[in-house]
Order: sequence, then C-alpha cells, then structure tokens
Amino acid sequence: MKIVTIEGYGYDSNVYLIVENDTVLLIDSGTGYYTPSILEEIRKHTSPENISSIILTHRHFDHSGGSTDISKIAGCDIFIHEKGINSLVIGDPVTTCAKNFRAKMFPVKAKPLGDTFEMEENIFKIIHTPGHTSDSVSIYHEESGSLISGDTVFASGGIGRWDLPTGNAADLSESLKKLEELDVKHLYPGHGDTCNNNCNDAIKSAEEMIQSMEHSTIIIKKQKDHADSKK
Ligand SMILES: [Zn+2]
Ligand SMILES: [Zn+2]
Repeated sequence: MKIVTIEGYGYDSNVYLIVENDTVLLIDSGTGYYTPSILEEIRKHTSPENISSIILTHRHFDHSGGSTDISKIAGCDIFIHEKGINSLVIGDPVTTCAKNFRAKMFPVKAKPLGDTFEMEENIFKIIHTPGHTSDSVSIYHEESGSLISGDTVFASGGIGRWDLPTGNAADLSESLKKLEELDVKHLYPGHGDTCNNNCNDAIKSAEEMIQSMEHSTIIIKKQKDHADSKK
C-alpha cells in the first residue's frame, strides 16, 4: 500500500491517494477549483478511473467541493460520516462553510461510512473524531501506523477551528484523547505538511493546547459570571 500526498493549493485541503495495485482510495477532494491539476497529479500514479471510492474526512467545502466531479470521472461512490450527509445532499452553504469561502456548494450525493473501510487486503479504522465539525473522522491504518486526520490535528501540533458550525472544543478535546491512544508513525493532515516521526507528540501537544484553551475559557466564564453576579 502506498499513500501519495497531493498538497492543497491555497485554501484547498490536501488530497491523499491510497494505492494498492490497481485499486485506489481517494481521501478528500479539495474545493473543486483545482480539480484539473489534481487529476493531473493523480495520473502520475494511476488512472483516475481506478479510484474505487472517495472518503471525505468532513463536510467542509475545502475538502468536499471537488468530490462530485472526481466521482463522475471515476464512476465511484463518495462516503462521509452519517452526520455530514444531510449538509452535502442539500448543498448547505453554512455547515459546509462554502459561505465563508464565498463559494456555491453544489449538492454531493454521499453515503454513510461504517466503523471500518476495506480496500483489497487493507482495513482502515474509521474513527469518529468530532470537534472541528460533528462529522469529522480520522482514518487509521494500524498495520503501517498511518493516520489521516482531516482538520482535527495538524503535523505541527495545531488543531482545527472548533468555532465553526457544528464544532465544539469539548468534543475536540475528547477526540484528541482517542487519537493519542494510537501508535501513529505517519500523520497525514487535511492541510500543511505530513509528519513521519514523533507524530504522537504532535497529537499530545494538540491535546494539551485545547485543554489549556478550554481551561482559560472556563476561567474567563467564571470571572464573567462572578462580575455579572455583582451587577
Ligand atoms: Zn480544511
Ligand atoms: Zn474543516
């Protein structure tokens, strides 16, 4: 099994190509603005017709916008966590954040992911990691220690925004705790560089960051409540 990174251009998400012989799994699709150049990159490794499925790490436009066009070329299905399906089917500009990109979200026909996803002899665990969005998933291949994390955690130890629709800090903190338990040798995030050593450290520092932020939010809230009670 080989994982090929197609780096996102501008706001586009990274796109990952998981290749096993002539079977290919595509993770995320970018906004759709750069689909021709993504297809050109794919052709360097395989034929786009070999893509058997597209998995979206979450519903955001920068990850899902290009999925319909690529799925038509490949003749394949698109999968996402069940919590993201409705937003995609109706092309909701708010929860997909297309509105934030001043873009039009075209409806995406997506099917629900299960707990695992099989590609030839490879088994991927689909780990529900809400927090950045309620439908965020991380895709884990235990045998190679590969984790595709979407916008939940980045290689630098950064975390995705939790203040967008359906996001929340407490869920993100719990999700990072789940990921901390994995043995991650290779981290493939939704944006920026990939990580090939000490990836668990990046997840740990992300978890510590959200903990300290949550803690300071609680302190600010307590101070505010205290001030309000004095009014
Ligand atoms: Zn993103
Ligand atoms: Zn996102």
